[in-house]
Formats: sequence, C-alpha cells, structure tokens
Amino acid sequence: MPHGLLTIDCGAVVRNWRRLCETHAGGAVAAVLKADAYGLGAAPIARALRDAGCRHFFVATVEEGEALRATLGEGPMVAVLGGFPAGKHAGLTPVLNSLDDVAAHSGPAILHVDSGMSRLGLALDELEKLADNPALLDGLEILYVMTHLAAAEDPQHPLNLVQLTRFNEACLRLPRARRSIANSSGIFLGPRFGSELARPGAALYGLNPTPGRPNPMEPVFTLTGQVLQLRNIPPGQTVGYGGAWLATRPSRIATIGIGYADGLPRALEGRLKGRYRGQEFPMVGRVSMDLMTFDVTGIRAMKAGRWIEIIGPHQDADMVAGMAGTIGYELLTSLGRRFRRDYLPA
Ligand SMILES: *Cc1c(COP(=O)(O)O)cnc(C)c1O
Repeated sequence: MPHGLLTIDCGAVVRNWRRLCETHAGGAVAAVLKADAYGLGAAPIARALRDAGCRHFFVATVEEGEALRATLGEGPMVAVLGGFPAGKHAGLTPVLNSLDDVAAHSGPAILHVDSGMSRLGLALDELEKLADNPALLDGLEILYVMTHLAAAEDPQHPLNLVQLTRFNEACLRLPRARRSIANSSGIFLGPRFGSELARPGAALYGLNPTPGRPNPMEPVFTLTGQVLQLRNIPPGQTVGYGGAWLATRPSRIATIGIGYADGLPRALEGRLKGRYRGQEFPMVGRVSMDLMTFDVTGIRAMKAGRWIEIIGPHQDADMVAGMAGTIGYELLTSLGRRFRRDYLPA
C-alpha cells in the first residue's frame, strides 16, 4: 500500500493545452510528453490530449515513442527528439539532428537547426552544406524545421532574439517548410516567436512558464502523504537524523511515508510546509529516505491514517522546487515511482 498519492487532473492538463493554443501566435500546439510526461504518466495524459484534439506529440527516445504510439493508435504525429537510430520504427517521426541523420533517414521527418543551444541540431556549417546541396534532402519529407530556445523563461535575455534571427536566416536558406520554435515559455514571448507548431511541456503540467510573474497555468496535480504515526514529545527531545530539530515545547509529531527516495530533496529541511484541512504546519527535522516528520501541534483533527498535502494549492511544484534549490522540471521528473497515481478524467 503506497504511502504517497499523486492525484493528476487530466482535465487541467487539457485546459492548460487550450490556454496555450489561445496564447500561441501562429499555428498548432503540440504536447511534449518525454520522461513519462515529466513524471506524471504519459498514457492517461496523452489520451486526454488526443481526445481534446492535440495532433502532435514529442518524446525523447524511440522507446518512449513506441509506447506512446501504442497508447495513441494511428493518427497523431509522434516525434522523437533525441537520437533516432536508422531502421524501421514505423509510425514514429525522427527529429534529424545532424547531416548524418539526414543521410540515414527517408520519409517524413523534422529537421532540427541549432540556433544557439549548442546541444542537438544541425550546426551552422552543416546548414551551409545543406543549403549548397539541397539534394541531400531527397527522399525526405520535411514536416517542420525546428529550433529550441535556450533562455525563453527570461523575456529580457538577449539570446532569444539572437536565436530567432539565426533561425529565420537558416530557414531562408532551406527549402520552404513549416516551422516549430516555442517551448512553454517561448509561447509567452509574443507573436515574433510564433510558428506553425509550438512544443510546450512544462506549462501543460502547471509549471509557471513566466517565472517572476503570476502563473497563467492551472495546477495539475496534488501530492499527499499518509500519516503512519503520531507521537507526543516533550521539550528538549529531538526529531530525526542528527537530532537536527529540537522541540522547545510539548510537541505533536506526525510521520508520513514519503522521503528523498520519492523525489523530495533533503534540501527541503526547514522549508517545506504540510497542510491539512486548510491548516498549515512546518516539516521538522531532516528528510529521511522514506519518511518525513511534521510538527502538527495544535492540529486537533490530525490522526494516524490521514493524508497531509505536500504539493497543492498552498505550495505548488515551482515553490517546492525553489525551496530545494532546483526547478519544477527536476522536481516533477523525480517524483517517486512508489506513489500511487490517480487520474481524474478530462
Ligand atoms: C523539452 C523540450 C521542449 C519542451 O520544453 P518546456 O520548457 O517543457 O515547454 C520543447 N522542445 C524541445 C526540443 C525539448 O527538448
């Protein structure tokens, strides 16, 4: 019996996708479902988005692509972002990241141009070669030419316009094709960053694509942990490893069955808050591998077996990530495989 419960609202994911469709200046909006939909579970989320009309999906690996194709059935595009071995992967769309990839593939594909991320995609010198010899693209049907923004979450960052300019210049030198530019944050950079296909991931899952400004997205999930035990301790007694927290008054301590093995970093010590029936209280002591402790002194309704909210309206994933010195993306993709995942239908 899992002690942690993730409740994932597929309806909220769909509403976020529609919101992104309204905001994106340009054409369609895809869904990036790599890493099992950022840890939330690709299959139920993919079905909900498909039923809402989403026609384009991106994953990181061929294995993820094959699983997603089995979930979605025929029809929607399933594109693989990183490394697509030449061979038969019927029904998946390769993202071509180099001239070697261009040479190795035929049929429908996406051409990835590196405009400044310096990670994947055709470099400028490769682009020159392609521009000088367009026959290299023979046998390929380029569905989109794409690029990926490195700093879109900061609208003031000079790299945004540098990348856009480089990409526009690259597109002028290539055979005419539809374009794909914005990730979640890129959608909020304004009409210049619009294209025929945006590729949001994080914003679908409720992470804030506009850090430092109010979150335009709806939260998508809550994480609750079940109270395994309640105990009363006297002043002067410590809680947890290292005796790191000291009770200064008679205290009531609730232990829940979630720890750093479930993706809640130790750096949350002294920062995280729990919530029960609208009342908030601090986590105390260190995060253990499978356990965390909360000071629930004065929370009279608390009982063993009850569920404490850890991530929810009082404290969203971006906040919890910030407390631990990381970003929502890393927190989400670390969320434990031990949690039960319940899905609310769209
Ligand atoms: C992960 C990824 C995205 C989605 O980015 P978000 O910031 O989560 O919206 C889009 N495009 C590429 C190439 C990616 O790797």
